[in-house]
This record gives sequence, C-alpha cells and structure tokens, in this order.
Amino acid sequence: MLVSGTLLVIGIISVSWHGFRESQKTFLRNNLAYYSSYLVSDLKDNLNLQHAQKLSKRLLLIIRYEGEDNSWQTGTGIPPLHKVHFRKWSESSGSPFILNSQSGKSVVTNVRFGRYRGQLVVTVVTNFGRFIFAKKSEKWHEMRLGIPWILSILGLTGLILTLTLMTMRWIMKPINWLSEGVSAIGDGNLGYRLPEKRGDELGKLALAFNKMSERLREMLEARERLLLDVSHELRSPLTRMKVALEFVQEDKTRDSLLGDVQEMEQMLTEILETARLKSEHGKLELQTVDLNKLIQEVCSEFDRKIPGIHFDGDGREYMVHIDVEQIQTVLKNIFVNALKYSVLGNDPVQVRLSEDASECIIEIQDQGQGIPEDQLELIFEPFYRVDKSRTKLTGGYGLGLSMCKTIIEAHGGRISVRSKPGEGAAFCIRLPADSTENN
Ligand code: ADP
Repeated sequence: MLVSGTLLVIGIISVSWHGFRESQKTFLRNNLAYYSSYLVSDLKDNLNLQHAQKLSKRLLLIIRYEGEDNSWQTGTGIPPLHKVHFRKWSESSGSPFILNSQSGKSVVTNVRFGRYRGQLVVTVVTNFGRFIFAKKSEKWHEMRLGIPWILSILGLTGLILTLTLMTMRWIMKPINWLSEGVSAIGDGNLGYRLPEKRGDELGKLALAFNKMSERLREMLEARERLLLDVSHELRSPLTRMKVALEFVQEDKTRDSLLGDVQEMEQMLTEILETARLKSEHGKLELQTVDLNKLIQEVCSEFDRKIPGIHFDGDGREYMVHIDVEQIQTVLKNIFVNALKYSVLGNDPVQVRLSEDASECIIEIQDQGQGIPEDQLELIFEPFYRVDKSRTKLTGGYGLGLSMCKTIIEAHGGRISVRSKPGEGAAFCIRLPADSTENN
C-alpha cells in the first residue's frame, strides 16, 4: 500500500510537472531572453568589474564577462560550460532582442539556459561579448532550515507512518484471526470461532469460516455419537453370547468364538472408556505418586515377555499427580505394542525416565519394525493401523494409542513418537511434574 501510494504520487507529480514545463517553455524562453537583455544592457552601461560585483551581490549571481579585449568574473563557482546540460528549448530563436541603453544599442543574439548539478547557468551572447550568469551555489549546511523545520518534517513523517501502520493493522486483523482459526481447527479445536465484527468481505469470510467449523464439529460429533450408541447397544448381545458360549461343549470352534467375543468386548470397553475420558463427566481420580515406582511395577508384569523390557530407574523420586490406573493402562498399551512389533533377536525394549523444569519424561524405545514417517501422527487416530490387514497374530483394532493420547492429554501432558521403518520406534510421554513437591 505504502509503495503503491508513493509510486502513484510520484507518477502524478512527474506527469503534471512535465505538462506544466511544456506549457511554460515559450513563456520562460521569452521572459528569460528579455530579462537577460535588460541585465546585459545595464551591465553594458558600466562595463566594469565593480558594477558587476554590485549586481552580483544584489541578485545572488556570479557574473562572467568575456569580451574581445578583456574578460572578468565576480567570483568563483561558474561550472565548466561543456559540462552544463543546456536545455534545447531555451535557445532563443527568431529575431534578436535589441534594447536601447545609454551607451547605445545592445543586441542579444543567443540566450541559453542550463543546469550543472542543480546549479542554474545562463549564457547570453551579445554584439559586444558573452556573459555567463550562474546562481551562487547553496551548500547544504548553508541552507537555513532551522530545528523547528526539521522537527516538524520528522513529526509529520512519523505521524504518516504511524497512521499507515495502524490502518494496515486494522485491515490485516481478520487475516490474523483467520490464520489463528485455521491453526486452532488444525489442532482439533473445533469449537474455535472467529469474531464476526466486520461487515466487509473479510467479515463475510469469518462468517463462512465459523459456519464451516460448526458444520465440521456437528459431523464429527454425529460420527462419535453413532460409534458410542452402537458400542452401547452391542454390549448386551455380546454378554449374552458369552454366557451362551459357556454352555456350549468345549471344542476348538467354541474357544475361537469365545476369543473373538472377548476381543470385541475389549474393543467396546476401549471405545467407551475413551469417550468417558473425553466427556465432562470423565473425571480423573488423581493422586500423587512416584512415577519411578509405578513404571517398575508395570515393567515387572512383563518379566517373561520376549525380548523383554529394561528399565534402569535411577532411584530418584519423580512425583506426579495422576490417575494411577489410567497411566498404568497407557504404559501397558505402549509396552505391549513395543513387544508386539519387535522382531526375533531384537534387544530388550528400553524405558528411560527423566525430568526437565516442569515435566517428567518417559521414553520407551524398541528395536522393532518401526513406523513409516508419514504415518507417525495418524497412529494416534482411532482405528488407525499401519498394517491394515488385522491379523490374528498382532490382534488389536487401532484403538490403544488413541486412548493413550486421550488419557495423557486429560492429564495435561503430551505423547509423541519418533520412528523410521526398520529402526524401531521411540514413544515419549510428558506429564506435568507435581509442582507442590518442588516448592
Ligand atoms: P493396535 O491395537 O492395532 O496395536 P494401537 O492404537 O495400539 O493399535 O496402534 C496403532 C498402530 O500403530 C498399530 O497398528 C501399529 O501399526 C502401530 N504401532 C504402534 N506401536 C508400534 C511400535 N512400537 N512399533 C511399530 N508400530 C507400532
């Protein structure tokens, strides 16, 4: 805006200036020639340096005279004529100016007007010699600008710039709101709404954005509600099936069916538990515990599993305010995955516990098959599995990590993963340290 405004002003000024100059050329040429003739005829009456110096002082000009017999000049500062850029239009044409003065007729045959580095130069050729008039050059420091003048220029510039900046900010505000809104929606905060204060195009955009996020929220809620309703409805028939299977004669088919029913029951429990944690009623039963001890307890449950879990607790206390049962579920889920996706001959899964200024950090690193980089964020989505074919070998429905994320976020923490295919996966859980312990 600033640049185009400046360019516009420069353009308008230069076009007008050009037009103005064109229209003034004839007027200037005639007047210049006439004025020069008078000046020259005055000088001719007293053609000596003293008279020229008096005139020079009054008119702030440097005067040089080049006659047939002599030449003089009133001061230094006349630029070399070959460097002066003479304007073509200034050369007087037509009949010469003839003026009667006390010392007879003076005939001006040629007047030229030019500039050298901003200094005005006029040459006048007459029937008794050539005159050169140059404006006395004004040095920058000689210009009487004064402090008030400089201050007002600075003040005006500052004012214009501040006003421009404020206007730009006002114009750009909805764009900032929009970019904040987009990143909030991207982070999953579908309740985010933009202010609908403006009636212009950007205001309409904010309105459309709000409608879009509202619609998105409704769609996702409907999807989740459907999932929850179906899960609820399936629970009773599953329980009835389980009871009925207990009365069926024991054989391979019955065992397989029972296994499937149990797996489905587990899936429903995970779905309903995740929904409970996300809802307002899903309160955590918080207590202050030592994370070091808790991890050791969970690890001991995996003693006999291959390739094993190695936790090297440093004996320190890492106090956190957590729902113990929920965090145990998270750890178990990640440990089960780490073992499940390890391959034969892998080193044991490494578990590390550390702490920074405000958080306790649990890292779980395995040497298994790893996860492709483009799927690292997706594995925390419900029902997402890297290997889409649900084999009986690995089991699971892709619900474990989504539940882990919900639990950790309900605690005010974060969960993330780093991995490369074939190089194992490293899960990192950050939980807020119990601040009352540190004080
Ligand atoms: P699942 O019950 O299918 O294991 P999860 O939500 O626990 O569901 O995990 C989602 C997907 O993430 C898994 O299907 C698997 O592809 C991938 N995954 C999780 N943990 C690991 C790991 N330690 N190594 C490799 N892939 C993993």
